[in-house]
Amino acid sequence: MTATAVHPDATVGSTADVSDAVREAIGTRRPLRIVGGGTWLDAGRPVRSDARALGLRELSGIVDYTPGDLTLTARAGTTLADIDAATKAHGQWLALDPPGAPGATVGATIATASAGPLSHAFGLARDGILGVEAVTGEGGIVRGGGRVVKNVAGFDMTRLLTGAWGTLGILTEVTVRLRARPETDETVAVAIAPKAGALAAMLCNPPVDMGSAVAVELVNAALAQRLGIASDGPVLLVRLMGNAELVGTDRAALFGAGGIGGPDGIWERLRTTEPAGAAVFRLSGPRARISDTWARVASLLAGLPRALIHASVGRGVVRCIVPDPDPVALSAGILHQPTAGTLVAERLPVSLWGSAGRGTGRDRLSRGVRRAFDPHGLFNPGIFGEGDGG
Ligand SMILES: Cc1cc2nc3c(=O)[nH]c(=O)nc-3n(C[C@H](O)[C@H](O)[C@H](O)COP(=O)(O)OP(=O)(O)OC[C@H]3O[C@@H](n4cnc5c(N)ncnc54)[C@H](O)[C@@H]3O)c2cc1C
Repeated sequence: MTATAVHPDATVGSTADVSDAVREAIGTRRPLRIVGGGTWLDAGRPVRSDARALGLRELSGIVDYTPGDLTLTARAGTTLADIDAATKAHGQWLALDPPGAPGATVGATIATASAGPLSHAFGLARDGILGVEAVTGEGGIVRGGGRVVKNVAGFDMTRLLTGAWGTLGILTEVTVRLRARPETDETVAVAIAPKAGALAAMLCNPPVDMGSAVAVELVNAALAQRLGIASDGPVLLVRLMGNAELVGTDRAALFGAGGIGGPDGIWERLRTTEPAGAAVFRLSGPRARISDTWARVASLLAGLPRALIHASVGRGVVRCIVPDPDPVALSAGILHQPTAGTLVAERLPVSLWGSAGRGTGRDRLSRGVRRAFDPHGLFNPGIFGEGDGG
């Protein structure tokens, strides 16, 4: 798992502090590198090296939790582990399982729109977020969605800031939707038979629509082994949640297809499996063509036997983790190969970002929105590749 050592140049403990830090940055013309838990700062394109690291970890704590409404508001630096502990006491949970450490902050999770296998049933980060508070590039405090004090009429600011990687504002507070914790939580692992056509057949008719399936991930043999399952080929992991009767029916069907009970803690292991320094990219295509997308990735990575591959079957996304990447092999074998579907690099050796195509957010509309929220170009400059000739 990623473990970037980060020592923020300054830390802030309140929204007013964040606002002051932004005003100071305007005065000194020194941009800001926004830091939550600091566990995933090597993702995205490199931020300008002169940026001052502003740490939000102390901007933490649950501001409001109304179990009867299934909503919770927390400061951005609150960890997902803290939210889990608070909600567990009331038989509730935040059904978001992004890759990474439990020390990841909720602000960063929303800023990077991070989600994991549970998005199969519960949707992506933007589906679970009800409202935000943020500080803009002029130091103003704005709110959108739930807990509204001041909203910007005409557009959905909450969703705009979700996945903007901090480029439109520093999230200081978020309000999320909770769910009742399910009675039963089990995983079944189905090894795909090592015969021609077995994988394609499983992927053409995956058990994604079972009533209690909340996550359906396909993992390659190398990743299955890391998760504690011995297999020569890919393994389908199906997480079942709900009442015991419904789960029992689905478990029996999967056992009938050759499934076995998955090891304890398997999803936590999957979340934290990514080694430091790995190159990570994903290829996505239509859900119905997941078999083609998987085959394409497998052929791109054929020369990299240690690569770990997993696919969110119901979403059509295949994600690849290449430990100790060789930039030359990676560049020739993957980044310069034509692919059907959308190839997105998440983490790369710095030298390879130039090969990963042009950054995002270069169209007029995106640039206009960014200028409106961050007119001085202070927030995470470079993270979308805006400094590389575009
Ligand atoms: C597909 C995928 C794979 C991932 N894999 C991993 C992984 O292997 N390991 C891992 O640790 N994480 C991973 N993540 C990210 C993870 O899920 C969390 O988003 C991240 O771990 C949050 O941790 P942090 O608080 O340490 O964020 P940080 O590392 O501090 O920040 C992450 C990014 O969010 C920005 N940011 C942080 N806080 C705010 C804020 N309040 N307002 C605006 N911008 C902010 C930062 O500038 C930075 O660009 C992955 C995410 C995705 C979508």
